[in-house]
Amino acid sequence: MSGFIQGDCRHQATLFPEKLDDFVSEDNPVRVVDFFVDKLDVSGLGFNLDCNGAGRPGYHPRTMLKLYIYGYLNNIQSSRSLEREALRNVELMWLTARLAPDFKTIADFRKDNGEAIQLVCKQFVELCRQIGLLNSQTVAVDGSKFKAVNNRDENFTAAKMRRRLDELDQSIARYLARIASADLQDSKAAKAKAKNMNDKIEKLKKEIDRLKKIEVRMLEEPDKQISLTDPDARSMKTRGTGIVGYNVQTAVDIENHLIVSHEVTNNGSDRSQLYNISYQAKQALNADSLDVLADRGYFNILEIEACNADGIFPTMPVPQTSNSLAQGRYGKRDFMYIEEDDEYECPAGERLEWHMRTTEGGLEVDKYWTTACASCPAKSCCTTGEFRRVSRWQSEELVDDMLDRLELEPDIMKTRRETVEHPFGTIKSWMGYTHFQMKRLENVATEMSLHVLAYNMKRVINIIGVSALMSAITA
Ligand code: SF4
Repeated sequence: MSGFIQGDCRHQATLFPEKLDDFVSEDNPVRVVDFFVDKLDVSGLGFNLDCNGAGRPGYHPRTMLKLYIYGYLNNIQSSRSLEREALRNVELMWLTARLAPDFKTIADFRKDNGEAIQLVCKQFVELCRQIGLLNSQTVAVDGSKFKAVNNRDENFTAAKMRRRLDELDQSIARYLARIASADLQDSKAAKAKAKNMNDKIEKLKKEIDRLKKIEVRMLEEPDKQISLTDPDARSMKTRGTGIVGYNVQTAVDIENHLIVSHEVTNNGSDRSQLYNISYQAKQALNADSLDVLADRGYFNILEIEACNADGIFPTMPVPQTSNSLAQGRYGKRDFMYIEEDDEYECPAGERLEWHMRTTEGGLEVDKYWTTACASCPAKSCCTTGEFRRVSRWQSEELVDDMLDRLELEPDIMKTRRETVEHPFGTIKSWMGYTHFQMKRLENVATEMSLHVLAYNMKRVINIIGVSALMSAITA
């Protein structure tokens, strides 16, 4: 070993014993965790501070909270890993003052203090707002599917159940055919084969019985779906495949990419989520009005109406429901609405008058057309039918405003995508393959809050640094 850099001797005593604090540098993020939690009003947030004095004293919620925030900042999310790390990780020893709770105590704290932990996450967002990191008043909203602790084979929908039962019936039919052919042969091997097949059929019948019992429970569920490991997890479509999990909604600040609000749902569709997540963001920012960027999956007139009524102005592309534009004919935007006359003007300069009002999907829709189409020279560029009909939804002026904003800022959807991809990509890479570790919606929501808190904390440290953040916490 001579000629190489030498380390200290393990058995060498030092003249001045080293303190734990010597091992934690001044700009170590663990100091932010310590400082932030020490400044929190833990009883006001709902953590249980009762200590009845009888028996062995428990750990203070601040110690447990520090342990968890450190864990989520450093990809140590399971209670068993945290128990191990508390015994060997110098930063954690410093943070918890060498306290090392067992994994059950650690797990119970997260399970029993869900609401308070979610409030801590909100407190950090409020801190970000106060130090001026959330000034843009524009957020990008998106949802992403996260895997639950529920194997796909342990989730049943009506279609999946039918498919599984059909497969089992087909397997039984195949084995019966083989038994029939073995019965024609009078050999020991054929008899053994028939017995083997009969055993397999028995197993398949037991599986059918098990599935039929599950089917009864599944049909009792309001959405005719059941997950056996995590009852709140739901089958959801993702790009190219499907998962059993949760749909996490976030509103992300477009300037600093901080997560302003988030919500875990088990509804796989984004169509009814816009108002809720945007309203939470507006509250968190304490803003009078808020601009929201979303993708076309959020398009829902009722949600857009609710947003506008509350000073929230969403911008998103409108899903193409008509084939006209795709087939090279005039699109809806080629028809100009004349508000004072309640008519449309078409590209040929004709007026399309109001003719009727219908209800489609719970929305009132007005229909406009003109009889001039019959003799129009541009008809082949407009419609394949007798007349071109134009539909106008209730509150369509809000959609027109949205499309005007999109035309004025054509890169805005690129900004939206880049903004929301950052936090989702980061958090999913921290979570690894399994995503959530806990079962049930309320527990998963707590886990997500810890991830969001860790993400935001890391982001702020990257933006302003440890010492500036600690000064801001003190201020
Ligand atoms: S077909 Fe009818 S709606 Fe279309 S441009 Fe001609 S007149 Fe206008």
